Amino acid sequence: MIIVMNHDATAKEIAEVVARVESKGLRANVSRGEERTLIGVVGDDRPIDGTQFEAFSGVEKTIPILKPFKLASRDMHPKDTLVSLNGMEVGGRKIAVIAGPCSVESREQILEVAQAVKEAGAIALRGGAFKPRSSPYSFQGLGEKGLELLAEAREATGLPIVTEAMSPEQVSLVTRYADVIQIGARNMQNYALLNTVGESNCTVLLKRGLMSTIEELLMSAEYILSEGNYSVIFCERGVRTFSDFSRNTLDLAIVPAVKKMSHLPILVDPSHGTGRREKVAPLSRAAAAVGADGLMIEVHHDPNRALSDGPQSITPDMFAELVQDLRQIAPVIGRRL
Ligand code: PEP
Ligand code: MN
Repeated sequence: MIIVMNHDATAKEIAEVVARVESKGLRANVSRGEERTLIGVVGDDRPIDGTQFEAFSGVEKTIPILKPFKLASRDMHPKDTLVSLNGMEVGGRKIAVIAGPCSVESREQILEVAQAVKEAGAIALRGGAFKPRSSPYSFQGLGEKGLELLAEAREATGLPIVTEAMSPEQVSLVTRYADVIQIGARNMQNYALLNTVGESNCTVLLKRGLMSTIEELLMSAEYILSEGNYSVIFCERGVRTFSDFSRNTLDLAIVPAVKKMSHLPILVDPSHGTGRREKVAPLSRAAAAVGADGLMIEVHHDPNRALSDGPQSITPDMFAELVQDLRQIAPVIGRRL
């Protein structure tokens, strides 16, 4: 349920409603808008009759929320949430471009790619140190050494770091280095992991699962928000379909759908979404055109020798050209880069 306060409700009236919500063993999420304050009741509020709150002074009405997610929904937070990253606001007018290799492989590799993507216009550096690989025999990432190299690359370029944690146990280590912690597609419904990153105060990049519906994606975000971490960015990275010409099917239609249902920003990852280098630029342009708040792109200085995801990694030159294209597209769709 959402409790809508009158536009002139006082701080005392708001506090009284919050106290009553909390006395029922529920939590109150207070969202102060320009027009009025909304109080989201967090937890299982089904047994509670909303009309009792309508008797409180300062309360205009209560709205039952039938959706299984509240905090992630636009009903609760009508305005777009802006997540700050490297001095910019993801979800605002500027399109955020995050780039870097699939995996951190060596000092030379990460420093070279970091420098190149920075010069081309990336606002953050991605790179996996803990890698979720389909085969146990594939390169699994450098672990903590990889995190140290990412920190070195941040030092050298000033770019914040986006990197993945695969288990709740890894979260405290990863957040010691990361500016943004990535939850990979395979872990979108790892609820223990979602709870743990929800307890942290690190920005979370939540990737859509390989076969997840939009409601499942929003409910996964709800796990994080309901722990008190409101700094969440979605990422569409392709889903499994019968299509046999690309690794996944990049579901660009989810971008306007998420924008309608949620206030949280959404990026698109055309690298995992297509699996093929030559498809990355066209799908990036398309993602910008449908209103994505940014892109996350795999870039490698020597993709044919990459230890993971070489076939979908673009070169620094290809990346620079793509950023130029995006700079031209952005003003046409009311955005900038
Ligand atoms: C990645 O970003 O390198 C990755 C493993 O992504 P996903 O979880 O989307 O497969
Ligand atoms: Mn990858």
